[in-house]
Amino acid sequence: MRVYLESLGCQMNVLDSELVFGELAKRGHAPVEAPHEAEIAILNTCSVRQHAEDKAVSILGQFAAAKRKKRLKVLGVMGCMAQNEKGKLFDRIGELDFVVGPSRLGRIPDLVDEALAGKKRLLETAGDIDRFPLPDHRHRERKLQAAIEVAFGCDYVCTFCIVPFTRGREVSRPIREIVDEAKKLVDDGAVEITLLGQTVNAYGTSLADGSTFAKLLTAVHETKGLKRLRFITSHPKSVTPDMIRAMRDLPKLCEYLHLPLQSGSDRILSRMKRLYTVDEYHRILAEVRESVPEIEIASDFIVGFPGETEEDFQATAAALRELEFSQSYVFKYSTRPRTKASQWEDDVPQETKERRNIELLEIQRQVSLARNQSKIGKTVEVLVEGPNPKNAAQWIGRSRQNQVTVLAGEGVRAGDIVDVTVDAATPLTLFGS
Ligand code: SF4
Repeated sequence: MRVYLESLGCQMNVLDSELVFGELAKRGHAPVEAPHEAEIAILNTCSVRQHAEDKAVSILGQFAAAKRKKRLKVLGVMGCMAQNEKGKLFDRIGELDFVVGPSRLGRIPDLVDEALAGKKRLLETAGDIDRFPLPDHRHRERKLQAAIEVAFGCDYVCTFCIVPFTRGREVSRPIREIVDEAKKLVDDGAVEITLLGQTVNAYGTSLADGSTFAKLLTAVHETKGLKRLRFITSHPKSVTPDMIRAMRDLPKLCEYLHLPLQSGSDRILSRMKRLYTVDEYHRILAEVRESVPEIEIASDFIVGFPGETEEDFQATAAALRELEFSQSYVFKYSTRPRTKASQWEDDVPQETKERRNIELLEIQRQVSLARNQSKIGKTVEVLVEGPNPKNAAQWIGRSRQNQVTVLAGEGVRAGDIVDVTVDAATPLTLFGS
């Protein structure tokens, strides 16, 4: 049957969708690009903000209408919202056949069969992790780049975050298993691998066999034919000297670190239970930058966290100017059920959140522009991903520092790693030849 699978949210969801697609393909189902072509539709959801859940409900409403018209035979929902809402989703969307949490992805092919056989309201949100241990058949949209989930869940308990409730405590996969998967992906054409984890650099805690994130990086780095290695997302508290040494010493490891600061105010960081101060974060960044001078750092921020005063916000704005991130992802706080922060009044007015959001983005835009312009006249190494969709005479790719780079060049092919001399820059893109 024809399957349409739409992914909302983070890279973990994109990867989960590839795994589910692959397993469904093993049973003879075929992926399609548009929902109107499908007989089976699955939505992979995100719960990290209210906005993401609202969007999921709206998309599910459209799928439900297609099911009422008998265009769709099976409708399922997976991901964090499935875990968060569980059976309540059946009451909201009566046409749903199955609801599957992120730890039970392995059940989806059977659930599709059961739904086709007429079973209703199939719920899989509890129990042991049941995923695809070695996904040989994953459906990969991008041939050159691939992701591997190295750990599932998170042991931190940031007071705003729903992830510990939807994905549970950290469970790491053995290094050997990850290395095997990396080899298979490289054999299948991947030249760049990104290791994924909710707090990827806390990798190994649950294994209790001496495995650390640095050892994992070193092991995957050995993969023959692999040209680039990346990882996301890191927690400042889990940055270790070993990890920094690995970043300095492993040549395939790209000079990019996503290390969310979240706020520039110690008072708010403490209320968020982030477990570091702004000064400590500064020190971590200084150590990383000293060891890996070419590195670019990206961060996340939440504005309008309960109790955030104008003074707290100004401290965040100052940190943003000072720390010179290459990029910042700024989010307006929204209350998530079951979190500690949901017990506090969401007391920053929406218009204030909007204004703070815009202000931070504008500061970041200026910082990004200055950082990118400082690269004019220099050379960056770029993995060419393909023709530039906006101008077929050019190519597009990413630098080791994760900057989108548009380039002109003779005899270039997708998959090449080329040196690009930068001659122009915007806040989000480098241009060169
Ligand atoms: S570190 Fe904090 S924000 Fe990140 S997934 Fe864990 S609890 Fe959520």
